Amino acid sequence: MVELKQVHQLIIPKARGRAFEVKKGQVFRLTCIDGPQVADMDVFNRKDFKEAFSSSFTRSVMGSHLTTGAQLLSDAPHFRPLMTIVADTVGLKPSRRGAVSHDVMLGRCNRKLHEWFTGNKRHPNCQDNLARAIKPYGMEQHDVHDPFNVFMRTGLGKDGRFFYEDPLAKQGDYVEFRADVDCLVAISACPGKSSGPVPNRLGVEIFDVVRPRGVKESEVWAHIKTPEPPRGMRK
Ligand SMILES: [Zn+2]
Repeated sequence: MVELKQVHQLIIPKARGRAFEVKKGQVFRLTCIDGPQVADMDVFNRKDFKEAFSSSFTRSVMGSHLTTGAQLLSDAPHFRPLMTIVADTVGLKPSRRGAVSHDVMLGRCNRKLHEWFTGNKRHPNCQDNLARAIKPYGMEQHDVHDPFNVFMRTGLGKDGRFFYEDPLAKQGDYVEFRADVDCLVAISACPGKSSGPVPNRLGVEIFDVVRPRGVKESEVWAHIKTPEPPRGMRK
């Protein structure tokens, strides 16, 4: 059996953001340690921050909601996997209304959005959380990109409007990602209402993957099936 050896862990406080590095070949696990909590997650190539996760390109190739096997793809001109989901305890089970977990449909919340909905001009938000988290790496507000919304449960109504429901994820649920290049990951524990009635903390653990002798890297991940890229738009 393959062993995951923990090399680092951190807590993302409720309604705050944090950034951390994951080396190529390492796995990181993102866990709802207290209860349901939506994570707005940005990913950058650690060696070239100009290459970052593309929500729209990933959505075009992998679909609107992601689970085990899906790859987080980078934007032009690279168009390549930055990370691959290797485990997901929540999955893509739709609600009665058709809402599904882990979306790449919606953008991150920001000051203006909260002001529109609540009138509060100083509401904590994912844009500012992510910008603060990546600041030590020399990046700023403009470098924040649309996230992978882990644990967020969303759908598209018949009226063409997006909606969200409380997360299906419970305390202890997690998603694991394998880094396909050296990555910088920034995560905001979303201070919006999409996590349910109370904001919670998130847990991050980073692992080295220990391969037993004689086991090839391709065999370690043999259980992962990556979705086929679309062959073209169909009616
Ligand atoms: Zn948010």
